[in-house]
Amino acid sequence: MSQHIYGIFDYHRLHQQFLHTIAYDALVWTSLHGLLVGDKSVQRSGSVPGVGLVHAPVALFPTPFPENHWREACELAPIFNELVDRVSLDATFLHDSLSRTKKADEFTSRLLDIHSMMIQINKKEEIRLGLHRSDYMLDEKTKSLLQVELNTIASSFASLSNLVTELHRYILSCHGKLLELDSKRIPANDAVNQYADALAKAWSEYNNPRAVIMIVVQAEERNMYDQHFVSAVLRERHNITTIRKTLTEVDQEGEILPDGTLSVDGEAISVIYFRAGYTPDDYPSESEWRARLLMEQSSAVKCPSISYHLVGTKKIQQELAKPGVLERFLDNKDDIAKLRKCFAGLWSLDDSNIVRKAIERPELFVMKPQREGGGNNIYGDDVRETLLKLQKADSQEDAAYILMQRIFPSISATVLLRNGCWHKDHAISELGIFGTYLRNKNKVIMNEQSGYLMRTKVSSSDEGGVAAGFAVLDSVYLT
Ligand code: ADP
Ligand code: MG
Repeated sequence: MSQHIYGIFDYHRLHQQFLHTIAYDALVWTSLHGLLVGDKSVQRSGSVPGVGLVHAPVALFPTPFPENHWREACELAPIFNELVDRVSLDATFLHDSLSRTKKADEFTSRLLDIHSMMIQINKKEEIRLGLHRSDYMLDEKTKSLLQVELNTIASSFASLSNLVTELHRYILSCHGKLLELDSKRIPANDAVNQYADALAKAWSEYNNPRAVIMIVVQAEERNMYDQHFVSAVLRERHNITTIRKTLTEVDQEGEILPDGTLSVDGEAISVIYFRAGYTPDDYPSESEWRARLLMEQSSAVKCPSISYHLVGTKKIQQELAKPGVLERFLDNKDDIAKLRKCFAGLWSLDDSNIVRKAIERPELFVMKPQREGGGNNIYGDDVRETLLKLQKADSQEDAAYILMQRIFPSISATVLLRNGCWHKDHAISELGIFGTYLRNKNKVIMNEQSGYLMRTKVSSSDEGGVAAGFAVLDSVYLT
């Protein structure tokens, strides 16, 4: 790669000793400020969870990103928030769109069953809270900002991304002169406070001063400090208590009181904040499904409700991208045009033309099952093989997948820091924009863009998750 591609961003020209110093400064900073994840390798038997700590995987320097596309992504956040809310109210659309998926995918099927039960008992969610994150990549050839996916459940890294922004500003304030970089070009990021604010406002709409916020967590979680930061802000700024429970514990300790209140271990719950429940692994037995149903039946504010969760599925993303579908949910023509502009090609597998193309040119597609959390997608030759296998099987199984246009972002030079070791590499980045939405009946209380998350991964890797071990946390340097 020649230097002119990167200009001042060619971090590869930096000297080893200089990078070593910066990596050490970064390590100290992450420890002093809690930019941390759990380290299972240090777990001792009998110890409390989280005794092993390690800095979160980070990029040493922010990644360049064009300011116009950055603004474009920020402007989309409130529009997507509103779209999620509108779609969530259309049970017919959700069930029709997911009807074939239901037959092929057991997990989606269970979620839909809960949704159907709520319709049967005429359960209405009047207070609706969305903590979303819409992820984008900048396609190099077309210079367009394209959405990768929209997360409506357990959108992570509001807290740690906030810290990475601070870390990068610190590094540039110390070393920026040498690097010819200006720390002010890193946009402010207040994601953790805005997430906590939204949760606090939902708590206050629920209007039971004695109730607490419950975070539903996985039994084994490395990214717990990202969650604890939100709890700390709720406690320190809003004087609100949070409790942490797994789905299994909710099943064992939870009940619905006669007035509809969810009580867990004797505590009234105002808001349920899911940081678990998005993958089948979180439901090893019927107990966890009972817990999910119990919570849904209660009067607590769910973040997300079962319908918000379903709106975030890959199948719904693909259905919304079909011509004329956005018009069903939104009135504003400008908003519709802005959303459509960021939609990549998305297809269902019953489109035989596209399947044929994908078998011919699999490198131009990504095949996605209805899963969240990283590490599930299919790329390259595996796309061809899987499609051929599905064709032969002649079953309903194809409905478990969607096809998506593969996005090719530009490659930049980066320095990654993981487990205390740094290395230079070529990388691509994915920009996530957090969005907060809260409404009570007809009153929209919050609908905002709420900070950002940049994730950077080596360009040879297909997948992008930080928690899944593919990417590092990063921030944005506006160009
Ligand atoms: P998950 O719910 O598992 O996070 P994603 O749709 O976000 O699913 O896909 C995981 C990762 O795969 C993304 O972070 C990104 O790195 C990569 N990816 C997904 N879709 C595309 C695409 N259309 N083009 C290129 N890479 C993609
Ligand atoms: Mg993702």
